[in-house]
Amino acid sequence: MMLVLDEDEIGILECIKEVQTERGFHIRDVIKKAKTGYGLSRSTVYEIVGYLEFHGLIKTNKAGNRELDPNIHYFVICPGCGKEVAENECVKDNGRAICEDCYLEGHQKIKFADPVAVRSKKLFRKQHGFEGTAGLTELQKEIYDFILTEGGATPEKTSKLFELTLQETMNQLAILRHCELLKWRKMGEEMYMVPFDS
Ligand SMILES: [Zn+2]
Repeated sequence: MMLVLDEDEIGILECIKEVQTERGFHIRDVIKKAKTGYGLSRSTVYEIVGYLEFHGLIKTNKAGNRELDPNIHYFVICPGCGKEVAENECVKDNGRAICEDCYLEGHQKIKFADPVAVRSKKLFRKQHGFEGTAGLTELQKEIYDFILTEGGATPEKTSKLFELTLQETMNQLAILRHCELLKWRKMGEEMYMVPFDS
């Protein structure tokens, strides 16, 4: 059976990991941690500990104390995409456990309006003698050529055509913007990426 834990239950597990010693853990220490760290009440702690005991995550050791069984695995719901992920496959991000895809998606964002990036990109390209599309990846060249031919394209259209996620497309477009090969232009109600000197 697949055990899926919610946020409070994961919080309690984290508290237990912090207070547990080789002798096990005492529920009073968990209550203290859970109250200050997660704002959870004493009765919630008891309720969740009971639930975790029921599912075998917590057992009683030889000394008669409660102990976390590290060999039992559970799943968490990724707050980013709602997918069920094994606890040992998720990534901690700002105290939340999220799936790897959401983590990468969230950390790949490259800002468009980034004068420092534009300056360093320009300097880098100048030092390497890169002009036009020299020094770009094949994908970036293809996207640039596409927008050049079309005279402009929305990120949505570009992402469909190149079969990329919208975030990945935005990253690639941001790099092309930093190279001053493309820029934004509002056409009607929509934003298009157009050649920089158009
Ligand atoms: Zn996710």
